[in-house]
Amino acid sequence: MICTSVTATTVKAFVEEIAEAVASGVDIVELRLDYIKDFDAERDLEPLMQACQIPYIVTFRPQWEGGNYDGPEPQRLATLKFAALKGAPYIDVEYEAAHCFFAGAGEVPVSTSVILSHHNFSETPDLDTLRSKARAMRAAGADIVKIAALANDITDCDRILALLRDNTGPTIALAMGERGQLVRLLAARYGGFLTFAAMSPSRASAPGQPTVQQLRSTFRFARQQADTAAFGVIGNPVSHSRSPAIHNAAFEALGFNGVYVPLLVDDLPLFLDTFGRRDFQGFSVTIPHKEAALAAADSVDDVAQSIGAVNTLVRQPDGTFRGYNTDWSAAVAAIERGLADTAAGGGAGPASLDGATVVVLGAGGAGRALAFGSASRGAKVIIVNRNRARAKALAAAVPGGAAEYVGMEEMVAGQVAGDVLVNTTSVGMHPQSEESPVPPGVLFHFRLVFDAVYTPRDTRLLRDARSAGCATVDGVRMFVGQALEQSRLFTGQEPPADVMEAAMLQAAQH
Ligand code: NAP
Repeated sequence: MICTSVTATTVKAFVEEIAEAVASGVDIVELRLDYIKDFDAERDLEPLMQACQIPYIVTFRPQWEGGNYDGPEPQRLATLKFAALKGAPYIDVEYEAAHCFFAGAGEVPVSTSVILSHHNFSETPDLDTLRSKARAMRAAGADIVKIAALANDITDCDRILALLRDNTGPTIALAMGERGQLVRLLAARYGGFLTFAAMSPSRASAPGQPTVQQLRSTFRFARQQADTAAFGVIGNPVSHSRSPAIHNAAFEALGFNGVYVPLLVDDLPLFLDTFGRRDFQGFSVTIPHKEAALAAADSVDDVAQSIGAVNTLVRQPDGTFRGYNTDWSAAVAAIERGLADTAAGGGAGPASLDGATVVVLGAGGAGRALAFGSASRGAKVIIVNRNRARAKALAAAVPGGAAEYVGMEEMVAGQVAGDVLVNTTSVGMHPQSEESPVPPGVLFHFRLVFDAVYTPRDTRLLRDARSAGCATVDGVRMFVGQALEQSRLFTGQEPPADVMEAAMLQAAQH
């Protein structure tokens, strides 16, 4: 189930928020009574309960468990029992208060399920501790166990997910923070009792909490089952990535039983070895992990090996992961289309990369892909990078002596010219979207400027290039191209190009 928390501060606004939540199609609402100022159970509870036309959870969270209530404990627990007696289908009681709650006056009717909850706001404990906590909660009277712990690393999610995999009874397991987001997004796949989602991004009550809309449409929550194949984009940062929108749209259009999530990973081998290899079918890999992905892959496609960067990992029938690079062909095709268009419009210079001079800014994963890709199409390549040693090494690695390197100082001073300027540095990428890797004056030395950065689509570099009279190609073309090839590898089916491009452009508007 998808649950949203209602957190308005007046009874009137609370009732309105409940109506909004019900209309949005969530399965269940959580009534956070501790947000209501001067809440009076006798007076206020009934109208709130009546406003819920779907199942609801009554929660009255005290400050000592991360909530707002700071009044007397007996009154708080009596309110929860009162809610149960009035017919609340679910009440949430903090595990630490369970003993006092059950020992207090009045029985909880059988029609009310008690969620015993426990939060750890600083870390995810080891698995034995988590399991014994869950056992103790059930022994203390939990119909549903809720454990939420802060994920300091994505590998913490494995221990939280183990609580769902154990299948010892209805469980709500949450990994708080952006590094724990996959637990929220894949709750249905792992059999979680519910997951929390916000009505809108601004109302998310915790980092990593998705919106109802994202869960339902992007992450295909209703379609997730135990046998749904999981995929993800490994990156850091990763929250800006359009890959989830584009790949999930492809799965939906193909009727493919898969789901694709963002994965904020600090240590790629550690993530893969902890549970990535076991629980996922494939990955897109982005900054800064493409070289680590090459090292971690069990086998690597020849092109990816020569480029020295892997942007795609795909599980093989024998369980091993094979690395590919889908960046280069997509980028080269996008640039060649741009050159052909320029030539068709009467522009001077080559209509393809054959014989063209391509200046590549950057020597990371995308830089290597563009350098090898351009050289393989017959271009002369000049590599410019902040880290000169890296530029030199890349120039030496491109076969056939097709590449050389020059210093960033010469580039900035306007001493480097060519047909195509390619930016593969991350300069200009969100949130530094007003930056450009080179001053506008140097752009007069080029016919076409390609920027691999795609968030934002219209970068400062591309705007400067248009002002300098250059043709431009944006990173969206490359992005959609590399995603199409990945989708083919993930699903074994011909990808729906129109659907994926539309999803990419729609995601870019948000
Ligand atoms: P990467 O392997 O981490 O390489 C980053 C590159 O950016 C390195 O050359 C690095 O130089 C340079 N760089 C970073 N910060 C810089 C700064 N402040 N000043 C100058 N240079 C700087 O990353 P990547 O995977 O190649 O990705 C690079 C960019 O391409 C990203 O914006 C990414 O989104 C984009 N990209 C787009 C697509 C697409 O489909 N459109 C595909 C792949 C990548 P040093 O060597 O000196 O550190």
